[in-house]
Amino acid sequence: MLDPGHGGKDPGAIGRNTRIREKDIALHIARETKKLLEASGYQVLMIRNSDIFIPVPERPVLAQKAKADLFVSIHADSVESSEPRGGGVYVLSQKGASSAAAALLAANENAAGSIGGVNMGGNKDVNQVLMNMVQTQTINDSKRLARFVLNQMSKHNKMKNEVQYAGFGVLRAPDVPLPS
Ligand SMILES: [Zn+2]
Repeated sequence: MLDPGHGGKDPGAIGRNTRIREKDIALHIARETKKLLEASGYQVLMIRNSDIFIPVPERPVLAQKAKADLFVSIHADSVESSEPRGGGVYVLSQKGASSAAAALLAANENAAGSIGGVNMGGNKDVNQVLMNMVQTQTINDSKRLARFVLNQMSKHNKMKNEVQYAGFGVLRAPDVPLPS
């Protein structure tokens, strides 16, 4: 599942001189990436393939519903200084993961269903432990993929040296590996 960041009423960052909008760059990159991946035999879905607004918390849910193996969110960030160059790859931090798991458990407390194969109808404490295991595994898988993506991108572009960790809302699905 590719997730072009922003869209619709949310333009993301806007180039100071060019006025180019992040939402347009993200969509363009996602479409090109989809073509390349499909040419290699991957099945690729997109969170959006037009200029529409989809709230951040809904995005990982759409990936889960589609039973995606991977979720990659694409952004083009901005900073005040014109000095920085290059890109970065982010995965969910353990701290962000704990709060996401807690929120999901709270939301699912009275609801049936399962997250990452964990049946939410059972004992609350058992659910918590199982969810943490699923999420730790997901973060480890994300890190492996993020390192690979970073190494590959470094061959073509200036990149940050290490995988970055953050609590971005869009990364908060417990059972789909999520580099951004
Ligand atoms: Zn963005």
